[in-house]
Amino acid sequence: MVWRDGHGLFTDLHGQRFACYPFQRRKRLLPTIFSKIIDREIPADIVYEDDVCIAFRDVNPQAPVHILLIPKREIVSLNDLKADDAGVMGHLMVKVPEIASKAGISEEGYRIVVNTGENAGQSVFHIHIHILGGRKMEWPPG
Ligand code: 5GP
Repeated sequence: MVWRDGHGLFTDLHGQRFACYPFQRRKRLLPTIFSKIIDREIPADIVYEDDVCIAFRDVNPQAPVHILLIPKREIVSLNDLKADDAGVMGHLMVKVPEIASKAGISEEGYRIVVNTGENAGQSVFHIHIHILGGRKMEWPPG
């Protein structure tokens, strides 16, 4: 038996929340490993934090500098953004160049990536901006 709230989220018998995506397999949503990083339940190399967001180094870096910037608000993906997330997401975008500058990749350039859904290979369902730099990037991306 499941319970549905007003946002298309369901709660199962164990209190776990999940969403129903009609064309995708059922995905567990919350909490993800990133919530545990926010709550300091697991360690991370944190490079920036404020009331709205936190940035930490990716555990499996794909470039010499690979930082993940996430909102503290639990948002699953770009597809799940609501109008009142605009301030949070705008805050993240403003923080990207600040974090890139602190990491020393501003001058040479860097790339941000927001993998969304299965085709893009999103593996953690808490929205995150990859900030990648320290090497020449290829285009088109793989
Ligand atoms: P996605 O594939 O969803 O776009 O990106 C998820 C990213 O999170 C991956 O690059 C992966 O290496 C990173 N990641 C997964 N688990 C952890 C973790 O426990 N700690 C850190 N720092 N990064 C993680």
